[in-house]
Amino acid sequence: MILKKLKGADILFYLVISYVVVAGSWWSYLLYIKNSDALTAKKEVLWLQMKEQGLTDRQIYLESAEYTYLAEQYERQKWMIFSESSVLLIFIVLGIWRIAKSRQKELALAEQQRNFLLSITHELKSPIAVIKLTLDTFKKRTLTPEQSNMLTTNALADTDRLNKLVEDLLLAARVDGGYQYTFETLDLSLLIKRCIQIASPKYLGKIEFDNKVENATLKKGDQTTLSSVFLNIIENAIKYAPNTSKIIVKLMQNKENTYCIEITDFGQGISKLERENIFEKFYRIGNEDTRKTKGTGLGLYIVKQIVKAHKGTVTLKSNQPTGSVFQVTLPKS
Ligand code: ADP
Repeated sequence: MILKKLKGADILFYLVISYVVVAGSWWSYLLYIKNSDALTAKKEVLWLQMKEQGLTDRQIYLESAEYTYLAEQYERQKWMIFSESSVLLIFIVLGIWRIAKSRQKELALAEQQRNFLLSITHELKSPIAVIKLTLDTFKKRTLTPEQSNMLTTNALADTDRLNKLVEDLLLAARVDGGYQYTFETLDLSLLIKRCIQIASPKYLGKIEFDNKVENATLKKGDQTTLSSVFLNIIENAIKYAPNTSKIIVKLMQNKENTYCIEITDFGQGISKLERENIFEKFYRIGNEDTRKTKGTGLGLYIVKQIVKAHKGTVTLKSNQPTGSVFQVTLPKS
């Protein structure tokens, strides 16, 4: 219903704009014609006046100062009409282009928010259902130690999922609206090592740390949010790559004053078209791999905001022959 109304508003908007363009061009054309008519009339009057004064040679009339002045004035006005209407047209076209672009963005955001609501409902409901079922089973049945161990492990994993979801939602809201970063001097390689330690138990494959910097001191880093950056990227690599493939985390010194951290996986990678989109809020790639995994599309958005707050960059390139390389750069100070 809302979409239909918006489409109606869009059509009206484009009709008005088309009318303004056509009317503007028409009035410019009329002005041009009137200008040339006025000149012809003025020339005629001048010729008559000269004839009254006894002049008969048309060549003298054409070379007279009055005639030259009239012709120059006409030429000036012709260019004025032409340039003013061109400027107007350019502004209108630029305006339409800007408005159409922001409309597209708005619609994409609305679509993403709808997807987000659908996936968040599912994400909230399924662990709650598992935990409820576990508690019901404990209440109604007598279980062997193995059975209760298995059920408790599953319920705990689902509680972790719920916790992560709520944390992501909170962090996304906070990085959007003035999160108070605590910038302090920290050891970047230690921080990355800790993130790998946290992520490793969730993974069957090996997470390799290739540390190329001896003393990776970051002058202004917020420990909590930076951990979230590396955990998010590493956990994505775990989620979207085959269970046993290798993940490589590499810490390098890019230039004199920048650290570069590369997280490489050997999964199916991300197409060129999607590389910008995945950093958008709530964006999830609509392929089979993503549908099979759980997520909210908030992780990389949070990563981008936090890295930006540290005056760094986060980019993505393709790993050859398959996989993704996420590259985070952070200024040393
Ligand atoms: P989430 O993982 O919760 O869906 P993210 O913002 O972390 O959200 O990631 C956005 C999307 O980018 C994911 O849905 C996934 O499709 C894609 N993606 C992220 N990391 C990878 C990766 N290492 N390999 C392949 N696809 C990825």
